[in-house]
Amino acid sequence: MIKITAPGLVIREQSVGESDRLITVLTARYGLVRAFSRGAKKTKSKKLAATALLAYSDFTFVKTRDAYSVEDALVKEVFFELRNDVEKTSLAQYFCELANEFCEEEFESEEILRLFLNALWLLKGDKKAPSFIKAVTELRLMALSGYMPALVGCDTCGEYESEYMYFSPESGKIYCKDCSPVGDIHCLGASVVQAMRYVSLSDFERIFSFNLNDESLASFCEICEYYLLNKTQRKFKTLDFYRVLSGM
Ligand SMILES: [Zn+2]
Repeated sequence: MIKITAPGLVIREQSVGESDRLITVLTARYGLVRAFSRGAKKTKSKKLAATALLAYSDFTFVKTRDAYSVEDALVKEVFFELRNDVEKTSLAQYFCELANEFCEEEFESEEILRLFLNALWLLKGDKKAPSFIKAVTELRLMALSGYMPALVGCDTCGEYESEYMYFSPESGKIYCKDCSPVGDIHCLGASVVQAMRYVSLSDFERIFSFNLNDESLASFCEICEYYLLNKTQRKFKTLDFYRVLSGM
C-alpha cells in the first residue's frame, strides 16, 4: 500500500452508486490521479465538497494494487461558485476537458495546473473577458504541451514585424506577406502576432496582463482556438456548449 498526499483540482466527477464517487484530480507532482472516493456523496461527509468538480483540495490518496482511493480530502479553494454564471461554468468545464486531454497519469504537470488555477481565478472575477481568458489558456497550454508556435520571425526570410503576418496552424510557423505559402494560412495583424508571442514566451506571471482592441481580440481568440483544434484533431463537447452559451 502506497500513500501519497498532494493538492489537486478535481477535473472530473462521476457518481458511483448512491454514495460514492470516481474522480479525476490534476496534481502538480503526479499529473492526473483517478481515484475512488467512498461515501463522498453522503451529506455529512467532509469529502462531499472537497471531491466535487472544480474543487481544489488537499488530498491523501492510497494506492492498492493499481487503483487509488481518496483517504482524506480537505477543501483549499472552490471554484463551483462559477455555477451562478452559465457561460463561465461552461468555460470552466472546457478547461477540465482540456486537462483530461493534455495531462497524463504519473507525469509532472505543475505548470499546467498553475495555468488552469490561474484561469479559474480570473474567471471568478470580472476583470477579464471569458473569451480572453480562454484564448490565453489555450495558447499557453499548447506551448506547455510541446506545441510552442515558432513566432520569432518569418520562417523564410526572418522578418520580425510587418503590418500583417501569416500563420500556419499546421506547422505553427509565421511568414511575412512576401513569403506566405499557400494552404491553410491565417492572416494576423501585428498586435495579434505580438499577443501570441507574449502568451507563448513570457514569464507565467505576466501572460494574462495585456489588452487588445475588440477587433484584434476577436482575431486572437479565433486563432488560439483554431490552433488547438488543428493540433488535437478532436471535438470537445464542452467547447460546443460554451459556444452556444457565449454566442460565439
Ligand atoms: Zn518573409
